[in-house]
Amino acid sequence: MVGGKLVPTRVARIRRPVAALTNHILSHLPAPERTALLKDAEYVVLPAGETVARAGELVSTAFFPETGLISSISEMATGHHCAVTVVGEDGVLGLEPLFNVTHHPFRLVSLLRSAGYRLPTERLLEAFDQSVSMRVFTLEHVGHLLTEIATLAACSRVHSHRHRLARWLLVMSDKAQQSSLPITHDVLADLVGGPRHAVTIGLNHLKKWGAVAHVRGRIDILNRGVLVANACECYGRSIR
Ligand SMILES: [Zn+2]
Repeated sequence: MVGGKLVPTRVARIRRPVAALTNHILSHLPAPERTALLKDAEYVVLPAGETVARAGELVSTAFFPETGLISSISEMATGHHCAVTVVGEDGVLGLEPLFNVTHHPFRLVSLLRSAGYRLPTERLLEAFDQSVSMRVFTLEHVGHLLTEIATLAACSRVHSHRHRLARWLLVMSDKAQQSSLPITHDVLADLVGGPRHAVTIGLNHLKKWGAVAHVRGRIDILNRGVLVANACECYGRSIR
């Protein structure tokens, strides 16, 4: 574990062609700005389930996912865990220093095998200061996150575990751009904010209606329409 860096020590580092960019912010930067930024970035691969940063650690890098999902997990003194945000190719993690917050407020976990560009925080701050495009698309992402967090707060108080489960499956599928999600019941319980058995009951219901198939450690979305019909109204609010 590298203190404060958004990657574990056993992360793989590989070369990747810039033309293959999928990250929403990076792909919308003017080519010269993007090229200059990526010269200072490192392409990294994060294993599924890896703790990428712990709450209280110094934020020293930003991470722009190209694939996969990174979740911010709030850890309560009671031992309860609850997902606060999930970010994929739609955004960036490690923005706290833009708001004068120097340390990670939450634990960051790679929900799926994820890959993307890691950038030193100083370089992120410089790009945000100098590039209009970086400011526009980063703030657009922050705006979407604020909406998602506010929606989640209301959702958690009103809607059932089953409806929230369907919503989370859709959100994860959208953000990761994949219909097969290698994810466990325990992780889903953290996302839904409920007990593991509520996830099992919810998945069995969704399976009965043909929305999903699930085997140990993997959930496949078979019928998206049925899944949307079983999700709470909050799903519509979180679509970009
Ligand atoms: Zn809801």
